Amino acid sequence: MQLLLATTNPHKIREIEDLLTGSEVTLVSLRDFPNVEMPDETGTTIAANARLKAVYCAEKTGLPSLSDDSGIEVDFLKGEPGVYSARWVEGSDEDRTLAILSRLASVPDDARTARYRCVICVAAPNGTLLETEATCEGRINHAPRGQNGFGYDPIFEITAATGTAPAWIGKTIAEAPPEVKAGVSHRARALRKMLATLRNCRFRL
Ligand code: IMP
Repeated sequence: MQLLLATTNPHKIREIEDLLTGSEVTLVSLRDFPNVEMPDETGTTIAANARLKAVYCAEKTGLPSLSDDSGIEVDFLKGEPGVYSARWVEGSDEDRTLAILSRLASVPDDARTARYRCVICVAAPNGTLLETEATCEGRINHAPRGQNGFGYDPIFEITAATGTAPAWIGKTIAEAPPEVKAGVSHRARALRKMLATLRNCRFRL
């Protein structure tokens, strides 16, 4: 089955392409539709933004379209930045990670819990809309570490709650190789659920 990947974020594109390699899904890129620009993310929830991106791309291209919307929820910050993770603080991803670290400067380890959340939507031109959601539980560390991944990965520590191998517990996602992130991440989990949903409907949308 062919799906248009409704995102222009190069990090998400790479992760989603890797996760779908060898599956029944082949991805078509928005690069093949240079006149289609992504819509503003006007939703107030991650799910609302995922829906609006998938529906918009399906309508504009006539192809079933897969979107990802995601963010990080820090418990001490009452779930912020959440849906606003990409623009919570002006500047770069690094500026935003440093802003979280500064807000948590005096917060002890056991109160630094956080999670990544991802909603994946598949919208078909006939109006069918499928949606899956997953989280990855973790903890905010005290200083950025690691070169892999993107966004908040250098400050997001893997905890036992992810069920990953003990060797990775206490490391940041940016310190872990891509295959370890693929085992625990919110995006990978939501995408695996979406593949199961698509298999259930025999890839007929
Ligand atoms: P959006 O889904 O395009 O609104 O942006 C999500 C934002 O959440 C990204 O720009 C990142 O800052 C953050 N984010 C989402 N997923 C991840 C991840 O896997 N690692 C690190 N940061 C992420």
